[in-house]
Order: sequence, then structure tokens, then C-alpha cells
Amino acid sequence: CGIVGFTGSQNAAPILLDGLKKLEYRGYDSAGMAVLGQDGIQMVKTIGMIKNLDNKTQGGAALPGTAGIGHTRWATHGEPTDVNAHPHMSNDDKFAIVHNGIIENYAQLREELKAKGFQFKSETDTEVIVHLLDLYYEGDLKKAVLKTVSRLEGAYALGILCAEEGGRLIATRHAAPLIVGVGIGENYFASDVTALVAYTKNVIYLEDGEIADITPDRITVYDSIGKNLEKSITRIAWDI
Ligand code: GLU
Repeated sequence: CGIVGFTGSQNAAPILLDGLKKLEYRGYDSAGMAVLGQDGIQMVKTIGMIKNLDNKTQGGAALPGTAGIGHTRWATHGEPTDVNAHPHMSNDDKFAIVHNGIIENYAQLREELKAKGFQFKSETDTEVIVHLLDLYYEGDLKKAVLKTVSRLEGAYALGILCAEEGGRLIATRHAAPLIVGVGIGENYFASDVTALVAYTKNVIYLEDGEIADITPDRITVYDSIGKNLEKSITRIAWDI
């Protein structure tokens, strides 16, 4: 299982597909992508091979847009099905998220969110995260993310795309692997460097609880209470 994200000025989907193929070795049962285009966020997901996702999106051409997130799933909660595959979207289509890991307190959060009127489409533990974001978002993405992750118990590598935030991505982790890739006029995140090494050799290693706020020309990393951190860029010394 793995996640990948891209924001820049080229189409995101072909880069996401390529990254997902590089992450195939980690194992998965389904895959999907969400891209922010002219008409908001569009999503395609499927059980089976990345090849299926490639075919279903015509190599990514069916999902035009310059910011997006991708996922390979190793199901823990909910069968491997198209609906349970990631990304997961909020009821108003404002947010799409990808998640690796397990949310331990999802059952309780699910009840709380259902009582507030949120409609669940999948059987995953993950879907609570996207509804929490929707609940807490009042125009300030950073605030909504900090509040959301403060509610989560368990392990996660998380990628977030918001239709109202242009090419801005959020990537955060707790007890699951995640790195940020630093490009020129484009930036990335991924579960590991194999997904990105064809595009950039400059990476930022995120520690547990750190949150990366990523636009095409800027990466800001803050801690779980929102304090900005000075992070160094590591140059990886190998080719693939
Ligand atoms: N727990 C989530 C699910 O079952 C994510 C699994 C993963 O890490 O791929 O959908």
C-alpha cells in the first residue's frame, strides 16, 4: 500500500500513475486517484492492478488537472471493492483524501459524524477523516487539518486535496511512512523515495505528527500544534 501526491503545472494524473506503479512492490488490492480540474475534484478508483486504473483513466488523460493524490490500498476495514478503494470524498465534494494505516477510534467517530448528518459511502475506517475535515473547515485549511488529526487515534499517512484551495496539498503522518519531494515549480509527497526519484532527488523526511503544507512553489512544515518547523532538504544519492 502507498500514497502519492503532485502539485505543479503539468497534468498530475500521469505522474501519480507512475508513482503508484513504483509503489506496487508494497502490495495492494485496489487503487485510485483524485485530481482537481476545471470542474472541481474528479475521482477514479478500481479494485485490482494499477493497470486497471491506467486503462480506466486512459493513462491519466481522463483526469485533467495539475494537482492530485493517488493510493494503493491494502484493505484493513471493508472488503476490497471499488467503493472502499481510496480516495474518499466529502459529501459536498470539497475534500478528497488518501490514507494508509488504521484509524483505531473510527467506530466512535463514525457514530458521532452520522449523528451530525454526514453520509458514509464506504465501510472503511478512513472515511471518518474526510468528514471530520468537512466538519472543521471554515475557510482555514491548516486549522481544519490540525483539528482533524487531533481527533485521530492509530496509524496514518494521509494526503489531502481541497477543491477550494487551488493546488494546495496537505500530507501528514503518524506511525506510517511519508516523505515530501521538492521540485522546481512543482512538489510531491509519497510513501517512499522510489515513487519520486524519477522526478526529484531532493526530499524532506517528515517525523511523526508533522504536517506538510504543499503548493507548487512552497513547502511549509508545521508540528501538531501548528508551529512552523525548519526542515532540511536531503539529497538522495541513487538512481532507479
Ligand atoms: N485502513 C484503510 C482501509 O482499509 C487503509 C488501508 C491501507 O493502508 O491501504 O481502507
